Amino acid sequence: MKEIKVFDIAISHPQRIIDGKIKKIDIIKYYEQISSIILPFVANRPVSEIRCHSDIQSAFFRKHHSNSDDLIYVKDKNSLILECQNGTIEFHMYGYNVKTNQPHIMVFDLDPDDKLSLKKVRRGVLDLKTILDKLNLKSFLKTSGGKGYHVVIPFSKVTNYRKFESFAKKVAVIMEKTWPDLYTTNIKKDARNGKIFIDYLRNKKSATCVAPYSLRARKNFPISFPISWADLNKFTPNKVNIKNIKRYLDNNAWNDFFEVKQELI
Ligand code: ATP
Ligand code: MN
Repeated sequence: MKEIKVFDIAISHPQRIIDGKIKKIDIIKYYEQISSIILPFVANRPVSEIRCHSDIQSAFFRKHHSNSDDLIYVKDKNSLILECQNGTIEFHMYGYNVKTNQPHIMVFDLDPDDKLSLKKVRRGVLDLKTILDKLNLKSFLKTSGGKGYHVVIPFSKVTNYRKFESFAKKVAVIMEKTWPDLYTTNIKKDARNGKIFIDYLRNKKSATCVAPYSLRARKNFPISFPISWADLNKFTPNKVNIKNIKRYLDNNAWNDFFEVKQELI
């Protein structure tokens, strides 16, 4: 049989069904297609991954290489595809740059109580943006590919984790104090009743957030997709997926993400 190669990587079991009609080769071709836009978010930092060794039911989270304590790094297109060849479907990014070991990508994850409407979740990300605007911080929006949205803030100058974490907490506490009936900084599920948990804990050194453009290992393979603030109401959290992404790739809502000049003071 003819060997299939993507970049320099030989692909085994390309026709293996992962879920529905989606095969292993479809996942790999997707990452090949978007490799240059995902790489800035997953290279130069560790990643964690969700892998499947057969179908989607076999998905498991991994933070380290097998049988070692070493974190996982993706350095270029070939190493991205090698991870997929070995079963990776989701890529999760850490907030720090490997050169400095210090943070520069801040993430807020809004996790609603299950019964909350999408309208309230959308109001939540806009309320968060209002606060960040007041602090003169440019923020970026993406769908989670699951149930919500992530608000992401790039810093051109790295800072230390003590400052970074305490700033993220301060922003979440401002939200909770301004709208106590809508938002909580308490991670406990029973404190969430009717509210949205503002997960600022994604900004700990050991924490991750699914990377922009990563697939999710779920039905229809939704994508955590960067959108513009103006498009919030046009995108449900799992709207963009492996099948329809071609329609949205021109969006390029985050094209200046790494050019933004801002720092924590
Ligand atoms: P959703 O919109 O459905 O909440 P999500 O990506 O925000 O999607 P969460 O469960 O809220 O999912 O988790 C937030 C982030 O925390 C994830 O993107 C992931 O990087 C990290 N995370 C989630 N589950 C685990 C886990 N079991 N171990 C380590 N990190 C995890
Ligand atoms: Mn979430």
